[in-house]
Amino acid sequence: MSTHPERGLTRRGLAGILGLGVLDLLMPGRALAQESTLLAEGGEPPFRVYGRDEWGARRPARTARVISRPPDRIVVHHTATANTKDRSLAQAFRLSREIQRFHMRERGWDDTGQQLTISRGGYVMEGRNRSLEAIRAGRHAVGAQTLHHNRHTIGIENEGTYSRAPVPSRLWDSLIDTCAWLCTAYDLDPFRAIVGHRDLFATDCPGDIMYARLTELRTRVALRLDGGSDKEAAEAVPPSTKSDAPAPSASSPSSSASPSPSEPARPPASPSSSPSPRTSVTPPRENPLPPDVGAPG
Ligand SMILES: [Zn+2]
Repeated sequence: MSTHPERGLTRRGLAGILGLGVLDLLMPGRALAQESTLLAEGGEPPFRVYGRDEWGARRPARTARVISRPPDRIVVHHTATANTKDRSLAQAFRLSREIQRFHMRERGWDDTGQQLTISRGGYVMEGRNRSLEAIRAGRHAVGAQTLHHNRHTIGIENEGTYSRAPVPSRLWDSLIDTCAWLCTAYDLDPFRAIVGHRDLFATDCPGDIMYARLTELRTRVALRLDGGSDKEAAEAVPPSTKSDAPAPSASSPSSSASPSPSEPARPPASPSSSPSPRTSVTPPRENPLPPDVGAPG
């Protein structure tokens, strides 16, 4: 049931009108834990996360290792794949299969590298095997998504390439949901926990546009955890950084791939928003290799 992408309407309109009891009836796929916060109960996601059986995962080469120590960082990635206009559930499932195929066949990994995947349509999916069971238990399924940091980080791959293009609002809303869920499940401070891949590895990932919005992401997640409404959260962030705001020099979607001379280079990490100093990285010698999926297929 494809309830997920409609939740923006749900939150901003229907929730106040109908109340959540009705919403639960209308949207049985969603277990809404609290009215305004949509927080998880323990590690249970308060929204639909599509499992591996649903997107058609193949068997992993090896079962993932689950460790009892929870992750202390949530790493935001982009997949560096096409910015497709296909927002369907079928496309989301196709993306998950392509990433798994790429990571297993081309990278030679045991399975999908990242623990979670979000499509441009806003669908959230399990990546590496055992990720959901581990999160529910407050544990960590070790992935292959941030070299040298896989034992203490959990990775979210966001479909698309965000070096120039704006982030679709459906994807953005799901990323906020997902980070809030993980911060609840692991008792993390979003201002410390949420980082971009480039904070930990020499990479452009997750793209300048998405990276520039991580402070907004942390703020939105923190407000969610504090019980604020989405309306309050939306008012708390500058209008220029809201979802689907065009890139500074982008005049049309098709221009998103063209160079943008005025676009600032990689933003400097401020102490308050990027707790993890960028580490110097030695070239990879063996698996796990840099995780971003490149152009699968
Ligand atoms: Zn990445």
